[in-house]
Amino acid sequence: MGSRLLQAAGRLRGPSAAILMYHSVMEDPGSQEAYLGEIILSQKVFRQQIELLARQFRPTSLDQVEQFINGKAKIPERAVVVTFDDGYTDNYEIAAPVLNELGVPATFYVTVGCVDRKTPPWPAHLRYCFRTTKQKRWTDSSGNSWPLSSTQQRESAFLRSCDECCQLTSMVQERYVASLASELDAQVPVDSGALMMNYDQMRALVKQGHIIGSHTMTHPNMAYVNSGVARHEMMESKRRLEEELATPVLHFAYPCPALSPHWTEGTIAISREVGYATAVTTNGGIARRGDDPLRLKRMGSGETVDALQWRLECAFAGQLR
Ligand SMILES: [Zn+2]
Repeated sequence: MGSRLLQAAGRLRGPSAAILMYHSVMEDPGSQEAYLGEIILSQKVFRQQIELLARQFRPTSLDQVEQFINGKAKIPERAVVVTFDDGYTDNYEIAAPVLNELGVPATFYVTVGCVDRKTPPWPAHLRYCFRTTKQKRWTDSSGNSWPLSSTQQRESAFLRSCDECCQLTSMVQERYVASLASELDAQVPVDSGALMMNYDQMRALVKQGHIIGSHTMTHPNMAYVNSGVARHEMMESKRRLEEELATPVLHFAYPCPALSPHWTEGTIAISREVGYATAVTTNGGIARRGDDPLRLKRMGSGETVDALQWRLECAFAGQLR
């Protein structure tokens, strides 16, 4: 189906909002690949994508979309919301200037414990260990031995370790990462702390009209931790951000590090009790009036401007790939 037909189909379906998910934007994505993997978009493609949004779609704030979903406000046709997960410094240094220049509001979901400890979320450490180790094998917690000769084997072992680590939080998670690094004899780069935003940068983003939301304290899979831990991850991150930013923090993003699902009915009930107005998932789709605001769908931006345009046209026409 051509772009024009899709646009006509979209108009018939009524207003909806596409919530886009980004992580990191860098001038040279290759520079941090061993660490952050494939979640880095180049500055050039990011600018092209934001220009597309500003030109052909209607960039809208998450607060406005929340009002729309709850039936309290209208949103324009072809509304798009820009969001970022994890809380990387490049969000402030590279992405925000482009967003501000083009008048596009965004929401930045920050992993609060990682900001406080100045260290990226744990998947970066595990990835780095498996990509750089000179060890030939690794043994998982069930006693299975994983060969580490080829890139493929390293990736499989990395994913297995993510399945283990995503169920851990706080100190236990820190111990897991430290013992993996020592087993694999891998040194995490000392300047990795500079990858995370600080509170001054977040305060500046709020002043520029953007929203800061929570992405938990320690980035676990929320469906695989007990309800006490889930409550702590949601409540403490909200409290810390509100204390530092002196503004209500009403939006939450579920980490999706490994295993499935990454949210449950139980976590949704907790997010409501704790006081969040919206929570976004990584389930693919767009947001419509009457949706549950505490389990909103999102979309990846794709790796090119054309990929983003096609995804959005399909989504608004109700033909999400
Ligand atoms: Zn994340």
